Amino acid sequence: MVTTDTGNSGKRNFAGGVHPSGHKGLAADSIIEVLPTPATVTIPMSHHIGAPCEALTKPKQELAIGELIGSSKAFISAPIHASVNGVAGMVCSVTLPTGKRVKAVPVKAAENQPDAREVYNDFFKGDYPTSGLEQYVPEAITEAVKSAGITGMGGATFPTFVKFLKNEKKPIDTLLVNGCECEPYLTSDYRLMVEAPLAVLCGALLAARACGARNIVIAIEDNKPLAIDAMRRAAKSTGITIMELPTKYPQGSEKQTILSALGRRVPGGALPLDVGVVVINVGTASTIARAVTRGKPLTHRIVSVTGDGIKHPKNILAPIGASYADLIEHCGGLTDDTARVVSGGPMMGFTVGDLTSPITKGTSGITVLVQQDVEAPPETNCVRCGKCVDACPMNLVPTRIALASRYRQWELTDTYHISSCIECGCCSYVCPANIPLVQLIKTGKALKTKK
Ligand code: SF4
Ligand code: SF4
Repeated sequence: MVTTDTGNSGKRNFAGGVHPSGHKGLAADSIIEVLPTPATVTIPMSHHIGAPCEALTKPKQELAIGELIGSSKAFISAPIHASVNGVAGMVCSVTLPTGKRVKAVPVKAAENQPDAREVYNDFFKGDYPTSGLEQYVPEAITEAVKSAGITGMGGATFPTFVKFLKNEKKPIDTLLVNGCECEPYLTSDYRLMVEAPLAVLCGALLAARACGARNIVIAIEDNKPLAIDAMRRAAKSTGITIMELPTKYPQGSEKQTILSALGRRVPGGALPLDVGVVVINVGTASTIARAVTRGKPLTHRIVSVTGDGIKHPKNILAPIGASYADLIEHCGGLTDDTARVVSGGPMMGFTVGDLTSPITKGTSGITVLVQQDVEAPPETNCVRCGKCVDACPMNLVPTRIALASRYRQWELTDTYHISSCIECGCCSYVCPANIPLVQLIKTGKALKTKK
């Protein structure tokens, strides 16, 4: 059970942020279910930040789960693997909810698929060791993470192996594992920590070996007491610290988590490694454990399918390339008052225009909102209340950036540090004039790069 927001409880915290209703109770108690294999999956050749992969398949080629089907020679990329047993079709194009159009390999599922219990146990149960990991040398861990195609599972989708590469000028002392899951509605990381704490811990220990970190901290918001308890019990005698952070959005945003958990401020334009930290998500950690100890690539992910517009909210382990419609149907379908389907959570997610789009390595949730959730009064003039400034976790002046973006005054957007905006949406959330601040800023960023 996830409790309601607690606000600032005296624990170390970042400035700014907001407390939207969590809505976590909709899916929090739903044990992870394995999606029955869909008739076809459509696996995009780009899920990640970096170069897209080239498809390696030929039409009618038989494929087994885990077989390599896409790769790139570029340094920053992540290989892609078949997520079902089946037969490849012609390479096609798909549009992702982000609006990006990418190549994809359709795979028609064969009859022989592993059963759901087998898949669940393979991902979450059995021996995920938390001692004796010296047998895994750091370079071998990094190579296993690279060949398994592991990218950030919290939504960032940066190829994880890159974070583990040694940089003598910037040594890493701490691995921070992010279990905050601060977006409203989403509960996939929560369920993972409750159901498979050993997979998360094993992956964290391996990741720390790979990047040379001596300290491991797993940060979890304090609205998830069951997850904190499960992780603390499993972490006894591992030396890993399980740290409770106050529930506040966007606590799970990388720079905010580092500040709250470690008291280190990552300067504008800098990276976590500049303050001696590597950050990975709990889902990424469990995927590392499976890749290194079981030799299995990233083929599935947990997706929360939730919101008042879903008949039976659930957390689902789904093969990459299954469609949004496949997952929604498994949850009983949409309610009559559905107004919007969002990929991710409502604060930072993208509206899904086509439910046949495939889920990717970065799809943490499908949030289905109803009419009441999306109704907003019309925009009015700025009343200069300063609420957007108080809410901004990056210490920006959102109203100025948004105004400069609206009037395409690009130099002024730079003066106000538009590139430091993490697009969290806190400013829009608090604005009494309903000015679409974050949308204006996002549009400004996109238009600036095109000009
Ligand atoms: S969206 Fe950008 S400007 Fe608005 S609160 Fe978040 S970081 Fe600040
Ligand atoms: S919150 Fe809205 S009304 Fe208040 S200063 Fe910011 S933009 Fe203006």
